[in-house]
Amino acid sequence: MTLSDAARWADVDAAIDAEAESAFAFLERLVAAPSTVGAERGAQDIVAAELGRLGFEVSELPVPEETAAAAPGGVAQVSYTGRPNVLGRINPGRSPSLLLNGHVDVVPAEAALWSSDPFVPVRSGGWLTGRGSGDMKGGFALGTLAVAALLRVMPDALSGELSFLSVIEEECTGNGTLAACNAGVLADAVIVLEPTDLDLLLGGVGVLWVEIEVAGVPAHAEAADRAQNPIGSVPAILRALASFQDEINEAADDPAFAGIARPYNVNVGTMSAGDWASSVPGRARLRVRVGFPRGWSPDEALTQVAAAVLGAGSDDPWLAGRPAVIRPVGFRAEGHLLPADHWLADAMASAHLSATGALPGRGPVGATTDARFYLNQFGVPALAYGPRARNIHAIDEAVELASIVTGAKTLARFMAGFYARAGRDQRDPSARAGREAAA
Ligand SMILES: [Zn+2]
Repeated sequence: MTLSDAARWADVDAAIDAEAESAFAFLERLVAAPSTVGAERGAQDIVAAELGRLGFEVSELPVPEETAAAAPGGVAQVSYTGRPNVLGRINPGRSPSLLLNGHVDVVPAEAALWSSDPFVPVRSGGWLTGRGSGDMKGGFALGTLAVAALLRVMPDALSGELSFLSVIEEECTGNGTLAACNAGVLADAVIVLEPTDLDLLLGGVGVLWVEIEVAGVPAHAEAADRAQNPIGSVPAILRALASFQDEINEAADDPAFAGIARPYNVNVGTMSAGDWASSVPGRARLRVRVGFPRGWSPDEALTQVAAAVLGAGSDDPWLAGRPAVIRPVGFRAEGHLLPADHWLADAMASAHLSATGALPGRGPVGATTDARFYLNQFGVPALAYGPRARNIHAIDEAVELASIVTGAKTLARFMAGFYARAGRDQRDPSARAGREAAA
């Protein structure tokens, strides 16, 4: 880094520090908009207003119903009518192009267990608590903060197209991002602003959602001994799923996930049955998230887990005669991976080093992000980088505000370098070949 570089970055960092409070206020407005699946509209309007304030050209991008028709799209949760993605663009059509991706949807909160209302943001000890603060509305604050500072201090640095895409349904299908990709909203590189503790998240496992339904024979409780309670067969299903989980993790041979003790978690997330203590329920249902290896397709994962659930019949006489029904109900996500030595990872690592004085970690996770579509279906390099969060998908979720500021400093450096490097490549085509090494 030259002296003038240091001076330039000192100005950008000062602008990020100065704009931070505005970014935190944006984050608070976002958290206060409870954007669970189907209810994303209010949060999308807040994102659109903020992107407009920063100078993006803002448009809405519908999610066609057919996005859900087949894998890698997920099974739709509710109609997409009135649930658009929001797209902001600067310098549309100008090369090179970079896309920042964030999902505005959040998972439900199990609110009764929280210390305070999950949709009323609370700042305390440098953290902001609220559902979605970490996963991933804090990423929106990080991304917009970096852009705001660059536009203020070195606007010429954003010399190509910059897209900021705010999608729905990352948490259950990925259909928001997939629809945008299908509509041609792509770029030369993508940064997904998920909470990564300021590390580089390069990949994830396959993820399938299934519903498992056990039928019973309903009756008045007085006749329970002559009826069939489907809840009684749930333990056999749970044992079958646990064995399946053990098998696929023991057989795991993907070196990319060698550092993760159990990459393929099979999680029973909901169970429901019955509606009255004095009634034998007619059916019981489990909703299950199945992590699976990168080598499998979502169809293969469904076949495998269906076979495992069928096996529960050897453990439960009722299920032997009336096997549980299994159906996909959300994610049909393939695994994905950006190579650890990819130029995009190197460029982000260099930016992080410049901003923080240390190199970030690099690796995959036993979950998924929307980066998979860019990598798997559209040949666009993508990774995730974002703030430090705690208790995501759990109780009292929070994001560390300082990590939003630090991450913005990394992202600003990365963006400036991304456009500058591409400019050099255009002047000197021979430099293009050296781009990976130079990055
Ligand atoms: Zn997320």
